[in-house]
Amino acid sequence: MPELPEVEVTRLGIQPHLEGRTLSAVKIIDGRLRWPVPSNLPKLLPGQKVVSIERRGKYLLVEMNTGYLILHLGMTGTLRVLPSYEALKPHDRVTFEFGKLSLRLHDPRKFGAVLWHPKTKGAIEKNTLLQKLGVEPFSPEFAGDLGADILYQHSRKRTVAVKQFLLAGQAVVGVGNIYCSESLFEAGIHPAKAAGKLTRPQCSRLAAAVRLILQRAIEAGGSTLKDFVNSEGDPGHFMVQTKVYDRKDLPCKVCKTPIKQIVQGQRSTYFCPQCQKR
Ligand SMILES: [Zn+2]
Repeated sequence: MPELPEVEVTRLGIQPHLEGRTLSAVKIIDGRLRWPVPSNLPKLLPGQKVVSIERRGKYLLVEMNTGYLILHLGMTGTLRVLPSYEALKPHDRVTFEFGKLSLRLHDPRKFGAVLWHPKTKGAIEKNTLLQKLGVEPFSPEFAGDLGADILYQHSRKRTVAVKQFLLAGQAVVGVGNIYCSESLFEAGIHPAKAAGKLTRPQCSRLAAAVRLILQRAIEAGGSTLKDFVNSEGDPGHFMVQTKVYDRKDLPCKVCKTPIKQIVQGQRSTYFCPQCQKR
């Protein structure tokens, strides 16, 4: 499943090709995605310019003249910029034409989304999909001590395990399942510890770990940027070398203790029972 780093690298991959360009046509090949693709897009969008391409959580926000396209990759979606003469492939769902270039959403399992937020409806941050998201891990609001404050305040009186607290994304967005295990290892925190019991220093280490782990994943994905302009590219996941994730029974890279796997909320968590403390 594409996580925040994959979505951010997608943004970096498509932005230079599309910003400032005028959309010439939209073709909805199969609009039965997570929510129906608005059928008026082919009428509404031609002639409008791409003002900017931003990201909020795992949503890409393509600002056009009169509103925002909200794009989500779901479970299996990819977005590619291709020469428009390239034939459509099976599972291509929507194609946005920009003269000689096409932006195509390819999504075999159809959990992705293409939605429209007109500017007449108010600020994009107030969209119901976005307004309850936690802060961005790379925003000034999560930098330094502020990130620690956010984790500390949001976790008070929470009995849920810190792994699930983080994964829920209500304090900070973008820490998917793999990145949760890796961030907690980096911070030396046991994943089953009750969120409300996190100390202030632990919150500080965790905030720094989240930024570090996500930044590393985005940097690892940087090498795939060229793949956003060909039809065969498949950046997949960027966490090239994990320290705990998917390393059950293998020796911890710090202390050699075998890595443990547990299930929390039906998702696998990996941790070192020696390095990570409650
Ligand atoms: Zn260890």
